[in-house]
Amino acid sequence: MREVLIQAAEVVVTMDGTRRELKGADVLIRGGVIAAVGEGLTSEGQVVSAKGCVVTPGLINTHHHLYQTLTRAVPGGQDALLFGWLKTLYPIWAQMGPEEIHVSALTGLAELALSGCTLSSDHLYLYPNGARLDDTIAAADDIGLRFHPTRGAMSIGESAGGLPPDSLVEREAAILEDCIRVIDAHHDPRAGAMVRVGVAPCSPFSVSRELMRDAALLARDKGVMLHTHLAENDEDIAYSLHHFGCRPGQYAEDLGWTGADVWHAHCVKLSSEEIGLFARSLTGVAHCPCSNCRLGSGIAPVRAMRDAGVKVALGVDGSASNDAGNLIGEARQAMLLQRVQNGADAMSVREALEIATLGGAQVLGRSDLGSLEPGKRADLAIWDVSGLEAAGAWDPVAALLLSGPTRVKHLFVEGRQVVAEGQITTLDLPRVIERHNALARKLAR
Ligand SMILES: [Zn+2]
Repeated sequence: MREVLIQAAEVVVTMDGTRRELKGADVLIRGGVIAAVGEGLTSEGQVVSAKGCVVTPGLINTHHHLYQTLTRAVPGGQDALLFGWLKTLYPIWAQMGPEEIHVSALTGLAELALSGCTLSSDHLYLYPNGARLDDTIAAADDIGLRFHPTRGAMSIGESAGGLPPDSLVEREAAILEDCIRVIDAHHDPRAGAMVRVGVAPCSPFSVSRELMRDAALLARDKGVMLHTHLAENDEDIAYSLHHFGCRPGQYAEDLGWTGADVWHAHCVKLSSEEIGLFARSLTGVAHCPCSNCRLGSGIAPVRAMRDAGVKVALGVDGSASNDAGNLIGEARQAMLLQRVQNGADAMSVREALEIATLGGAQVLGRSDLGSLEPGKRADLAIWDVSGLEAAGAWDPVAALLLSGPTRVKHLFVEGRQVVAEGQITTLDLPRVIERHNALARKLAR
C-alpha cells in the first residue's frame, strides 16, 4: 500500500483524546489512513520533511457558498445588512450558469486548501441556467478535497412574500426530486468518503414550512444530513416571529430540524433556551465570525454554546459576505470575537483550533476525521513556522492563530498531496484565476 512519511515536525498537534502535542514527531500514512504517530518512524515510500513545521489535522469548513467567489466586494453589497445585501446580489447570481458554478468552486476550494482546509461543505441554493450541484462536485474532485455539498433550494419568491426574485426559485416537487437524484448519484456513507451530500433548503425566509418538513423526512429516509441558515440576525428573528409566530429554534424543532444529523449556519441570535435545545438534541452549529462581522449581524454566543455542550464548527460563509475564504483566518477571528464579548480568557488558541478541526468533524458526523491518530483518515495541514510571520514566536502552535502563517506549506487529503511547497499540485491555478476573473467581469457587465 502507498506510504507517506511526514518526518520530524517541530510539533504534531494530534487533537486526540488528551490533546497531545508531540515535539519532533513523525506521521506515517498508509493507503490514505494514518498508520502511526510518533518518533523515529521509517518508510520506503514518499518522505516529506516537516522540519520547522507544525502539523495539524486538516481544517474543516462547514458553511460556504462557493459560487459567491465570483461576487466579492460588489459595490452596493459592501455596506448592507443581510436582507438588503441579498436583494442587491440575487439578480447578479441569476445570471450564472454551469461554468460559473464550476469555476467558482475551483477557485473557492483552492483558496480553502491553501489555508489548511481538507474538507469543505458547500451550500448551493440557486441553480440558474442549467447549473447543477454536480458542477461543484466535479470541482472538488478536480482539486482533490473532501467535500460535503448540500442541495440547497429557494421556493418562496417575491410574489409569494419571500425575499428572492421569482426567477431564482424552484418548484418544491422538483427540488425534492433533484435532492434524491444527487444523493443517489454522489452520496457515500462509508468511512473515508470523499463526497457526502446533504439536504439544505436555503433559509426559513426563502422556502415554505412544507418544504422544510419534507426535506427533513427525505434526509432521514436517505440517511443524509440537513443544513440551513438559522437565527442569523435581528431581521431573521423578526421574520420568524412575524410569519411563523415563534422563534427560529421552535420553528426548527417543530419541523424536524434538530438532531445529530442537523447543522445550522450562524445561530448568532440563539437564546439560552435555544442553546439548551441544541445541546440536548445534539444539533450542530456552523459559526461564521467574519461574515457575522461583515454583515453586522452580531456576535454568536459561542462561549455559551460550548459551555452548554453544543457542537460548534467553523464556516467561512460565502465569499460575497466575508469576502475571504481563509479558514485559519476564520479560526483567528472566532477566537478574537469571543474575546471582544467575553474577555481575553474567553477562548484560547487551542480551543479555536479544536473547533476548526475536531469541531468540524463532529458537526459533519465524521468520526473518521478531525484528529491525527492511527486509524483516522490522513487529512493534514503542514504549516511552516520558520518564516517571517512566526519569527520570534515562543509557542509555534499558538503562533498559527496569533501571528501566522496563514497559508500551508503542504496539505494532504486521504494521504494525497494537494498542496506542495505552498502551491496547489492538482490544478493550474493561474489559469483558473484567469478564467474566474473573466467570468466575474462578464457578470459585472
Ligand atoms: Zn450562508
